[in-house]
Amino acid sequence: ERKKLSKLKKTPAITLDGIEIQLLANIELPEDAVAAMEVGASGVGLFRSEFLFMGRTGSELQLPTEEEQFEAYKKAVQAMKGRPVTIRTLDVGADKPLDSSEHNILNPALGLRAIRYCLKEPQIFLTQLRAILRASAFGNVHILIPMLAHAFEIEQSLAMIAQAKQELLTDGIAFDDGVKVGAMIEVPAAALSLPMFVKKLDFLSIGTNDLIQYTLAIDRADHEVAHLYNDTHPAILQLLDMTVTAADRAGIPVAICGGMAGDIKLTRLLVAMGFRELSMPAAILPEIKQEILKTNIGLLQVATKKILRTYDPKLIQELLVAMRSQEF
Ligand code: PEP
Ligand code: MG
Repeated sequence: ERKKLSKLKKTPAITLDGIEIQLLANIELPEDAVAAMEVGASGVGLFRSEFLFMGRTGSELQLPTEEEQFEAYKKAVQAMKGRPVTIRTLDVGADKPLDSSEHNILNPALGLRAIRYCLKEPQIFLTQLRAILRASAFGNVHILIPMLAHAFEIEQSLAMIAQAKQELLTDGIAFDDGVKVGAMIEVPAAALSLPMFVKKLDFLSIGTNDLIQYTLAIDRADHEVAHLYNDTHPAILQLLDMTVTAADRAGIPVAICGGMAGDIKLTRLLVAMGFRELSMPAAILPEIKQEILKTNIGLLQVATKKILRTYDPKLIQELLVAMRSQEF
């Protein structure tokens, strides 16, 4: 069994009809990169940087310094040995509160979170961007911005990155000037205004956890509505299809880094829809790879079109089950 797993680790995730899928790992702390390497991930598709900022005790807000952040990002980047590491900028608020004062907000998921918070706190954002850029001198770093919805947020984020680069240049500190910048597509408004994104950014990454929450108007942390959290609701599938189509047309990469990417029931559908990068918890990756190794994307096109054309949830479920049991 161990031998089989170590062989699987080195096997690229290529479908029976020869299409390679990049399987990447989601990490929360730099140490998690070790597990990502152990399962043979092609890289880190989502480094949830907020975990460096959370759980810091004391009544005063204790944020990690530029130096501390730089060391953490560098550690992950070096552990991945040249493989891409996509570092998401601070995504605090809502289900990931930075301090207890946030608990009094009525609708935290709709409040000051992620990029909204960072643009309101430019010093915190700049410090993080400098740290990420410094780490980019040690490997293959991508910057990912969460919760973007407005054109001005894209522009301001890019301007802040440019400013951080300028500061580093002035200070004579090394960084990779070609670092790619991407947007999380996790607010329905973003998925419905993709031309705004593909022109300005180098890649997209779909956060299905939030995309589902905001599209179906169900709090992802509220158990009372957990039964309504349906990742194959026709609206979700349409938004995913629009996103992969727009990215392909623009010639930029698109990944999925939310929970759907690690759901084996959906693997065949997602690759048949055109997704070539899936980022998930490292523990699930070997299983997803095995599924891809016995998938034929060409032979799934008819079923995929059917799923995307019907708005009948029961039929979608039946087609998905049939797709999964299909042998090639
Ligand atoms: C998502 O929303 O799907 C996502 C990947 O980000 P997070 O779960 O950290 O909000
Ligand atoms: Mg999210």
